[in-house]
Amino acid sequence: MIELYARQFEIGGPDLPTGRKGRIFTKVCASSAPTRKKLAEQLGIRPATMSEITLELINDGLVLEARPGRNLHKGRPEIILRPNADRLVAIVCYLVSHTVHCALVNLAGETLYNSQFEALADQTDNEAFLSAISNLCAGCLDQVPNGSTLAGIALSLPGIVDEVTGFWRYSSHWPKLRNLDLSSLTERLDSTVTVSKNLKCELHARRSRGNHQTSESLLMLHWGFGIGAAFAHRGSTFAAESRGFGEVGHTCVDSTSTALCKCGMTGCVEAEAGIWAIAERMKGQDIPEDEWQFEQFLRDNPDLDIWERPVKLMALTLRNLCLTLSPDQCIITGPFAQSEPIFSRLVKCFEENLPTRSLVVGENRTKLRAGRAGTQDEIVGAASTVFQPAINLLCRD
Ligand SMILES: [Zn+2]
Repeated sequence: MIELYARQFEIGGPDLPTGRKGRIFTKVCASSAPTRKKLAEQLGIRPATMSEITLELINDGLVLEARPGRNLHKGRPEIILRPNADRLVAIVCYLVSHTVHCALVNLAGETLYNSQFEALADQTDNEAFLSAISNLCAGCLDQVPNGSTLAGIALSLPGIVDEVTGFWRYSSHWPKLRNLDLSSLTERLDSTVTVSKNLKCELHARRSRGNHQTSESLLMLHWGFGIGAAFAHRGSTFAAESRGFGEVGHTCVDSTSTALCKCGMTGCVEAEAGIWAIAERMKGQDIPEDEWQFEQFLRDNPDLDIWERPVKLMALTLRNLCLTLSPDQCIITGPFAQSEPIFSRLVKCFEENLPTRSLVVGENRTKLRAGRAGTQDEIVGAASTVFQPAINLLCRD
């Protein structure tokens, strides 16, 4: 599992640890049964230098030595190196509907401890949310294993997130939360705190897990309770800043729409095709707002006619997005993408909207793929925002 992080660091982007020590540690994570001799050959480093740097990594606690099983051949078996997954741990806070989760994870992406809090989202204001997060994090801090160092606390959030200043500006799930300054948690919890957009974290880990080429540009569109996107280009995932990034749910593809959005504007595609809007419009039919339950609802109600307008609006949204960002691939997550008939209809509609006879795209049209939203990807991607600088610090030459 540790290669999850190794791949993220190895992908060639800005996350790659610099210097020889960093390269050796990354190689130890990514190799099977590495020895000093093998690593020296693979990296073109002199054996004496390799021994010296490996000793430093062992003293730092990042690398452990393991004796291989009994060797039938004559001669002393070479010692195998392996990464110490528990050397660094991170606390990842993420949200699933109205439940706030805090997970203590190690470098292998294993959850060592998890606590959660079911919030009354309609009543949770800035102070109540800060207090819930602080309590959950305090519980996780008590569980940090002996010998482990906490790299930091990573918050992965939906809606409009300013990753630079640490402000959570808005989320359709949390109507009472506005312009929440999360940077204050650094002092409150006496730890490094990073704030990231949830879709960006998920895409970051998905890109590494899927072994996508660095040169490949990937768009991820989440169509669920709300609608949002993340984009990765040349090894970097675009950051969300003060005005958000990827807030495609609030773009308009029908100027005659009178649908009121939670964001304060009229005609947003999310106010037409987001689950919250569909549930409001079809009141009385008991439409579940929870994405997992909504997925089941779609399975039980396969009538395509009901979803024709949302599908058409999303196909137009995709056309605009693909022409703006020109991704090689677009992964669509959320309940609608899990329904084969709806997803096929969406692809067909998109292709009609962006035909290959168009001189703009020709045969080179973006490929649409259905993907399942992944909490594990979100956790790994969020944790990497604190692991990466901590590893860089430990691996300074
Ligand atoms: Zn809106």
